[in-house]
Amino acid sequence: MLLSILLSLEAIEGIEMRRREFLSSAVVGASAVALGGCHRAPKEEQQQVTQSKSKKVTLKLATSWPAHFPIMGTGVDQFAKRCFELSGGSLEIKVYAKNILVPALQVFDATSAAQIDAFHSGVYYWKGKNAAFSIFGGMPLGLTSEEMITWMKFGGGYELWRELYGKFNLYPLIGGTTGPQMGGWFKKEITQLSDLKGLKMRIPGLGGEVMKRLGVNPVLLPAGEIYTSLERGTIDATEWVGPALDSMMGFAKAAPYYYTGWHEPGSILEITFNKTRWEKLSSEHRAIITAVSEEMTGTMLQEFRYKNAQALQALPKYVKIKQFPKAVMDAAKEALDEVLHDESQKSEDFRRVLESYQAFSTLNRPWDDISTKNFLEIRS
Ligand code: CA
Repeated sequence: MLLSILLSLEAIEGIEMRRREFLSSAVVGASAVALGGCHRAPKEEQQQVTQSKSKKVTLKLATSWPAHFPIMGTGVDQFAKRCFELSGGSLEIKVYAKNILVPALQVFDATSAAQIDAFHSGVYYWKGKNAAFSIFGGMPLGLTSEEMITWMKFGGGYELWRELYGKFNLYPLIGGTTGPQMGGWFKKEITQLSDLKGLKMRIPGLGGEVMKRLGVNPVLLPAGEIYTSLERGTIDATEWVGPALDSMMGFAKAAPYYYTGWHEPGSILEITFNKTRWEKLSSEHRAIITAVSEEMTGTMLQEFRYKNAQALQALPKYVKIKQFPKAVMDAAKEALDEVLHDESQKSEDFRRVLESYQAFSTLNRPWDDISTKNFLEIRS
């Protein structure tokens, strides 16, 4: 009895220390709120917290990016650093760049099979595993980053994502988001729908599916081959991310028409754990990882915004920023409806996730119209 009281006191002291660290480092996550003074955890929760051992744990996390790749790679480096700091050194996450432990696009399988503990990647890469995963990655003409995160946290997205990833013994968390992406670099101007016919464009995911129905020939190329293919004319266009990362690739020299975005308004990245490994972590470590993943998501969005704004100003003068003609976007909307309909027919999971996504979208739109959209129009 005495021992258990002493252990509880030690745990509470630990929590109080952690609480101060959380507050002083301005982590504004759900866990920080849960540990705040105005909220008393229910009995079961307190029980779980007091049972936390928080002995030293080392996890292996593989990414789909080159080492310290700007924003995405540096973001996950910072994630590991913050987990280490907030746990007082008891949670060490070793980050491995792509192809060090496993190839870039095998991180999902390797984590599922417990060869590694976790990965940092993009959800849209795994639509071959389950078509519904492409919705969690982001939807053409769909939700923005902020809206995506809201759907995930409050609109049922997380529950569905975790249910479907659970079948692969995986536990996913949002691990960053890009904000709105640009529509891509084209060698020639697109003035009408027929200009797209027969174009070869590097564009993955649902955006690629839509483009295909507009006559484009979508191709998948690894990052390292895009510039050369564009320069040699093997492809006519490519999308990538936005000014900050696109500038590093030098696309402007080969394809100076830079189109505004429509196909990836709010793509999210993931930090995903092997589920068995996740459940064996102490509740303290799980709380830290959850809070830091939220911190990482916010920081990455802000970093993308800032660096895109800077890079836009620094684009060469010969770059021509264009909007797709209305006829092209109208055709894209129609094609998207067809794609979503067809995918829903083929996959029950896709239909269920889409239903939840669209329910949030319908709820959100009227408020967004009279708040953000209205304000941005006034401000401009
Ligand atoms: Ca992209």
